[in-house]
Amino acid sequence: MSGEILVTGGTGYIGSHTVIELLKADYDVVIIDNFSNSSMKVIDRIEKITDKRPILINTDLLNKENIYDVFEKFSFSSVIHFAGLKAVGESVNNPLKYYYTNIASTVNLCEVMTAFDVKNFIFSSSATVYSAQNKMPINEDGNLGPNNPYGRTKLFIEEMLSDLYQSDSNWKITLLRYFNPVGAHESGLIGESPNGTPNNLMPFITSVAVGKQKNLKVFGSDYNTKDGTGVRDYIHVIDLAKGHVQALKHNCEPGIKTYNLGTGKGYSVLEVVKTFQLVNGVNVPYEIVDRRPGDIPISYADVTKAKDQLNWNAEKGIIEMCKDAWNWQKNNPNGYN
Ligand code: UDP
Repeated sequence: MSGEILVTGGTGYIGSHTVIELLKADYDVVIIDNFSNSSMKVIDRIEKITDKRPILINTDLLNKENIYDVFEKFSFSSVIHFAGLKAVGESVNNPLKYYYTNIASTVNLCEVMTAFDVKNFIFSSSATVYSAQNKMPINEDGNLGPNNPYGRTKLFIEEMLSDLYQSDSNWKITLLRYFNPVGAHESGLIGESPNGTPNNLMPFITSVAVGKQKNLKVFGSDYNTKDGTGVRDYIHVIDLAKGHVQALKHNCEPGIKTYNLGTGKGYSVLEVVKTFQLVNGVNVPYEIVDRRPGDIPISYADVTKAKDQLNWNAEKGIIEMCKDAWNWQKNNPNGYN
């Protein structure tokens, strides 16, 4: 296959699972990461799973000269850009850090790509770019309007990439809007390893199950949903990773294309908790507390476009998501630490 695939943020949660799927599909992979929220150990684990060792470059995308040097050494055919900050709460408290890190690093990356005439780009976006007012399921034409700085960095980058394509129609750009990625590789060797107390539902459930947290706080039981708790479109991280491989294969024509990556099904918080307890035979005590500010009642994807155009759909259901999340956590109670 001609040219390596550059994966920024390739040791992070979604990045590392995508690297595995890329290696399995016989791509040569080069990872750039600054390890701000990931571990070097991921590389050994990837090698253990795939028998291949991706090339790793420890550098920061905010340092443009370093990226330039990396591009001089390789001849990339495409870039998959995961690197970025992603904690919603932190973005509210420190918006400038988020705007600077996420946007400036993407500007640098695209400038260097332009200089080397590498114009195939897959961007890691998020369903948080959609406005809370949309009807569900939501397709790619839904109204946009994120309600926190993190989501706005994703939207601004999407718009910047669209402007970039308007200015130079050689670019081939795919924007992937993720719903709620959960689970882990079935080996239990790689998974999500959040710093400190987890913010997201599944890592919080696993940390309760492993005894690190006393109980799960269920944020609100008075939403207009099946059981009153929030409903989300959880997607197994391996399905999501495979979606990137399909996006890469289909990113052949100049233009900018956008896809939702989800399962198209919504599960409530209590459904996830109950399924997790049942399939894993562990107890997850919980209490109902107030709604979390900024949460929306329901979010799930219309995934027709990805199915039709990328020949991709999620194959793993909520049972595998719960099993694999627990398999990872119980084998690695402290994540990579
Ligand atoms: N949630 C919860 N307790 C937690 C974390 C999350 O009840 O400790 C709920 C949250 O209100 C939402 C769902 O779980 O309805 C998914 O939240 P998460 O933070 O994982 O993802 P989001 O969809 O908010 O990005």
